[in-house]
Amino acid sequence: MAEVVFREAGVVAQDRAVAALDASAVAPVHAYLLVGPPGAGAAAAARGFGAALLCAAGGDGTCRDCRLALAGEHPDVRSFAPAGAALRVEEAEAIVREATRSPVEGARKVVVVHDVHRVDVATPALLKTLEEPPASTVFVLLADAVAPEIATIASRCARIDLPPLPVPTIEAALVAEGVAAERAAAVAPAALGDLERARLLASDEDLARRERLWRTLPSALDGTGGTVANAVDELLEHIEEAAAPLRVQQAAEVAALEDRLATTGARGSGGRKALAEQHKRVQRRHRTTELRFGLATLASVYRDHLAAGGPDPAADVAAVDAITAVAEGLIHNPREELVLQALLLRLPSRR
Ligand SMILES: [Zn+2]
Repeated sequence: MAEVVFREAGVVAQDRAVAALDASAVAPVHAYLLVGPPGAGAAAAARGFGAALLCAAGGDGTCRDCRLALAGEHPDVRSFAPAGAALRVEEAEAIVREATRSPVEGARKVVVVHDVHRVDVATPALLKTLEEPPASTVFVLLADAVAPEIATIASRCARIDLPPLPVPTIEAALVAEGVAAERAAAVAPAALGDLERARLLASDEDLARRERLWRTLPSALDGTGGTVANAVDELLEHIEEAAAPLRVQQAAEVAALEDRLATTGARGSGGRKALAEQHKRVQRRHRTTELRFGLATLASVYRDHLAAGGPDPAADVAAVDAITAVAEGLIHNPREELVLQALLLRLPSRR
């Protein structure tokens, strides 16, 4: 049992996924698909799994292989992610090329692909490599969810789920990290099962104001395009501001990397590029989750109205359905301004 390496990697709870990965590290199949929403621990689990796969002791968390893999710097762990809205053909080709190369140091190579839910059309070469990679290669794919677009990819992998973290788990994790109990209790429900988001919200003074903005939205709606356009502008502005704590955190990570490069004298262009790409990915996810949080708050207004037995319950039901559909479609639709405007035009006013 080497579950320690998953805790070292930052996985919180997720006992079933950790046990499954831990058991798999001994005699892995050729490809795994880790499925879970942002901040539920899939990225950390992939890091821990990479270490467990390369470590001679199955992931003791202390040897050179483990330390390098956990720090994201092992030469036999290669990570990929779509840079744009979807995986480009050149990016798929780069993954295939890397997967067919021999390991640099040991007997095994781990190829990690992030954001597989944004792979809308996989190339035949990628599918074939996923199905039959060289014996030394293990694929670890990560997806927020399994949409029909990635069903063919999913069918070639052993699937491991990392569901959203329960509110009490998030609350306890925040308290264990030094957040005041009252603040942790206030922030945990707004994190939507995402511990990384919870950590940011813990230092986000603006959370209550954003929640109020979404909650009062139905009382401002009057069916006109002008009102809707203004409301969407204001919402997007607040979502932009909500990324402020994230930008502070990322600036600190860049500074830490520069420090490390200065001390070691390494050139570091690869490390800089990888970190910048990771930051972009995290920013995109943060934005999507913030929108989902807003939409969940908005839906709760219509749900409350319905539960209180207000007039026109059918319109409340339709409103909740429309909001839920938009929230679920956000992963695939980056045109959030238009989507939000179209949604708000359809929603009835409620006070
Ligand atoms: Zn080790």
